Amino acid sequence: MSRLVMKFGGTSVADLERIRRVGRLVAAEVAAGHQVAVVVSAMSGKTNELVAWTDGAGAAAAGLDPSDDEYDTVVASGEQITAGLLAMTLRHMGLKARSFLGWQVPILTDDAHGRARIEDIPPAKLLAAFEAGEIAVIAGFQGVTPDGRITTLGRGGSDTSAVAIAAAVGGACDIYTDVDGVYTTDPRIEQKARKLAKISYEEMLEMASLGAKVLQTRSVELAMAQRVPVRVLSSFVEPGEAPGQGTIVCDEEEIVEKRIVSGVAYSRDEAKITLYGLPDHPGVSSSIFSRLADANVNVDMIVQSHARTAGSANMEFTVGKRDAARAVEIVKGAQAEIGFDEVAVNEDVAKVSVIGVGMRSHTGVAKTMFGALAEKGVNIQVISTSEIKISVLIDAAYTELAVRALHAAYGLDQL
Ligand code: ADP
Ligand code: ASP
Ligand code: MG
Repeated sequence: MSRLVMKFGGTSVADLERIRRVGRLVAAEVAAGHQVAVVVSAMSGKTNELVAWTDGAGAAAAGLDPSDDEYDTVVASGEQITAGLLAMTLRHMGLKARSFLGWQVPILTDDAHGRARIEDIPPAKLLAAFEAGEIAVIAGFQGVTPDGRITTLGRGGSDTSAVAIAAAVGGACDIYTDVDGVYTTDPRIEQKARKLAKISYEEMLEMASLGAKVLQTRSVELAMAQRVPVRVLSSFVEPGEAPGQGTIVCDEEEIVEKRIVSGVAYSRDEAKITLYGLPDHPGVSSSIFSRLADANVNVDMIVQSHARTAGSANMEFTVGKRDAARAVEIVKGAQAEIGFDEVAVNEDVAKVSVIGVGMRSHTGVAKTMFGALAEKGVNIQVISTSEIKISVLIDAAYTELAVRALHAAYGLDQL
């Protein structure tokens, strides 16, 4: 009997009517002969509401911070509600089901609160549920440290819960969401976006890490490392309505139709920090970035250029918006030691990227990208490349325009 982990995101469990439809989708897979475990997110908007409790003045007085263990106790609670409601719904439909919170499975994580990593999932309890013909309905997004503290896996983390559970029980993973697959770009921005029947793990990993939030980056990393078969599907259908639809995330070799560029992704979660008048000698970059690394600030794009004055340079780098203020504080605190004239921060920037394994073997991808942006008058502030992607940092106001221009430039609307 094959094992299947079905994951339902926030919009898929947004109210009792949708939870009942989820129940019908689960029942259909059970009837098809699968051993099923289900992972659920909190109802849509719930996690934002819980996170907001940590932003208000009262919460600040209580010292709630995403790295705080009590932050996790608060924000993990949304998934407890939906796990219970779905288990009740399945029972009402005459199926055997029970809810599991992270600690009850247990989903063991490290103690990096707010962004914990799963370290181990002993499968015994889930295997026992399969044996007993009982559907395990597991609260996504949450885990537990070895000493019993609740953790959360970072925003969008239920995808990672689902893939990790599929790996632990040796099953496939179906991610049900509010779109019916992975598209060439966010269908909310470009109506001409096309659904991809298949996408390679590597491309999906780049798409996710460059902003396509349809799958959490870590879930793709894990699926790729453990070779978990992943499908992305819509939960807004009745069982049997769209058989075989969705997107399969798989090995590159399984994709017959080769494309040069598979998708365009964007992220508005960027801030650009510029340091003017840096001394131009060895050790300066190391002194800046080691300080940021020690403070766990993740730096993405970096460019350095010579300033007009001899012996002086300017440097620009990007960090997540959330880390911007802290990054500026860190470099300012070391201004005398590092020796620079001025620091500036710009949060009105966005990163737009094109992704495709075909870039390994085809030239001219960058030329097309820069040409399309120039034609629309979009100025490029920073460029970074890797084997299968090119990213540019632009003024945030041009995000949609740039995404659509690039989508058309690579013919993605005609796939
Ligand atoms: P869930 O609540 O089910 O986890 P998310 O909101 O996290 O759903 O992810 C689904 C959303 O991802 C879609 O509604 C869509 O707007 C967005 N998205 C961004 N890029 C893409 C893409 N390339 N393909 C499909 N969806 C995308
Ligand atoms: N509910 C969590 C969030 O909104 C986890 C998830 O939905 O994947 O980030
Ligand atoms: Mg999500």
